[in-house]
Amino acid sequence: MKLCRFNGGRLGLVEGEQVTDVSAALQALPSQRYPFPTHDVFIAHLNELRPGILEAARAGQKHAASAVHYDPPVANPGKIIGAPINYKAHAQESAQDSNIGHGRAITTIGDWGMFLKAGTSLIGVSDEIVLRFSERRNDHEVELAVVIGKTCRQVKAADAMPYVAGYGLSLDMTLRGPEFQCFRKSIDSYAVLGPWLVTADEVPDPGQLDLWLQVNGQTRQQANTRDLIFDVPRLIEFASSFYTLQPGDVIMTGTPEGVGPVVPGDWIEAGVQGLGSLAMRVASQYA
Ligand code: MN
Repeated sequence: MKLCRFNGGRLGLVEGEQVTDVSAALQALPSQRYPFPTHDVFIAHLNELRPGILEAARAGQKHAASAVHYDPPVANPGKIIGAPINYKAHAQESAQDSNIGHGRAITTIGDWGMFLKAGTSLIGVSDEIVLRFSERRNDHEVELAVVIGKTCRQVKAADAMPYVAGYGLSLDMTLRGPEFQCFRKSIDSYAVLGPWLVTADEVPDPGQLDLWLQVNGQTRQQANTRDLIFDVPRLIEFASSFYTLQPGDVIMTGTPEGVGPVVPGDWIEAGVQGLGSLAMRVASQYA
């Protein structure tokens, strides 16, 4: 199932070139009162909602998939977790280009650990990436995103996959510089997720997916998730060895080689095999 949020909070079922409004299915969610949960309630109930989504699709209004405004497919991720230097060739380019590493020793993801991006940095693919400090270097990073479906902690890699709700395409936009990653990568609009969530049952092997990114029509990144250093199960093991993972938490699995700068006015196009694609404008804050 491919599910999107669109046009200001509508829930959509994506089939081919069509988005069907299935917002009626959200009526089945339990009503919430303060204090609200710290996880995403829709993702937490996704499996129970499936029959209602299919039912709602029978009468739901249909839109052209090219004509809707895509909001991030996870409305309220409790955490957006990043995976640094998780492709060997990206680790090599980071060690060679001092503007990427800024003097930090490029070791391994096992040594560096993971990092968090602020929830306020999250946007969908119909919005603009707004460079906050456009005089500094701002890089694109295309990544496979994993959305957690069930609460887990200290889960082993061999047991990790049932905790995945689905997958998406993400951009881990990055301001280069001396600050910590959690600060540089948390600027508003620097976490892109979408266009939709593809449920895990439609992705038999997240470790065999092509991913690519172009800037103004020129290929910058072209890789396959088979080259991840920590693959999806190992990332879940690693993240959950420190954090409790909750429904709706997003793990951006790391970027392959080919990262590079973007400037206001650029167009970024990107895709992950089977998960959709995006085309987004880069704006400056004052544009
Ligand atoms: Mn990244």
